[in-house]
Amino acid sequence: MASTASLLHLLLCWLAFSAGFMSLHLAGMLVLSFIVLSSCVLFLLVIWLNLNLRFRDPSLTTAQMCWAIGVVFFTAYFVETLRMLFLMMALVVMMFGAFRLRLAGYVRVGLFTAACYVGLLVSLWARGAVMDGRVELIQAFEFAVLMLGVCILGLEMSNLRNMLQVRNRDLQQALERIQLLAITDELTGLYNRRFANDLLAQQKSLADRGNYSFVLCLVDLDLFKSVNDRFGHGNGDAVLKQLAQLFRHAVRDVDFVARLGGEEFLLLLSHTDVTGAELVLERLRQGVRNTEWQDCLGLRLSLSVGVSAYRPVEDWEDTMLRADGALYQAKNGGRDQVVVL
Ligand code: GH3
Ligand code: MG
Ligand code: MG
Repeated sequence: MASTASLLHLLLCWLAFSAGFMSLHLAGMLVLSFIVLSSCVLFLLVIWLNLNLRFRDPSLTTAQMCWAIGVVFFTAYFVETLRMLFLMMALVVMMFGAFRLRLAGYVRVGLFTAACYVGLLVSLWARGAVMDGRVELIQAFEFAVLMLGVCILGLEMSNLRNMLQVRNRDLQQALERIQLLAITDELTGLYNRRFANDLLAQQKSLADRGNYSFVLCLVDLDLFKSVNDRFGHGNGDAVLKQLAQLFRHAVRDVDFVARLGGEEFLLLLSHTDVTGAELVLERLRQGVRNTEWQDCLGLRLSLSVGVSAYRPVEDWEDTMLRADGALYQAKNGGRDQVVVL
């Protein structure tokens, strides 16, 4: 941005030159143009080669602004009547900074500008240029007021930008939380039925393409109502949470566990068949049987499970129906067992 201001200023110099307001010769103008253009190319090159990443401010805003302001003051040395107009370009550079600079940056560039201003006046005085002290004082005052105005405006923009960044981050976090809440079960932290449905549709597509198989296991706690009756609903909830932990540990990272509702869960075991699923389920049933449930002294729990492997091309709802039928059979067969259909 500041480099763009340099280019605009170069254009202004050429306009002033063609109108006869510059005390530079054509050769001087050409050298000036070469320096300004090559500095712009240099800044671009530094950014393109990622060399800017080595600096604290990779956008190189302060450096680019100081350079552009330096060019403005340098060229102002060669104009008489249009000097103040030339210096206005420093304000344009300052405005470009509003997109990046913070307070410390503004102070630094502001001090640099003040030094340039003093340097310019001293150089002009040393050259013996005709200067009216009162005019210079009023001009310097006006320049300082404008500069201050631009800085305050820039800082306001910078504050707004910061606020926007914080809001965006908060919004992003809220969105992530909402997305998580939409797919997880509040009590156990497992996936919920909505996620399970989406997942099943996706797994079906995967399996239909070949080289992939999965097995559905519908797991239901046996006689869970009596746990609530004996130990209270709060402890019943705690049992469900503890059970969710057991499920998580029993399956691999590539498998999924969801709570479909109440005390009914779905295990989706991927890259496996019914035999592999039976091994996992046996381990799980052993684990449940041997678990000491928190605050439920003497409680022994068991699981009934209905298992069905996905058969390519069928609807996943059909696989679920088979698993449901298997679970029904497991319950009717006396509970605490795995039935495969
Ligand atoms: P079955 O062996 O036939 O499955 O018997 P069951 O008692 O487990 O099944 P039933 O469907 O008769 O009752 C399920 C019970 O699960 C009823 C309800 O009290 C309990 N339950 C469902 N959701 C929750 C929950 O979020 N927290 C608690 N504590 N209990 C729940
Ligand atoms: Mg039950
Ligand atoms: Mg049930």
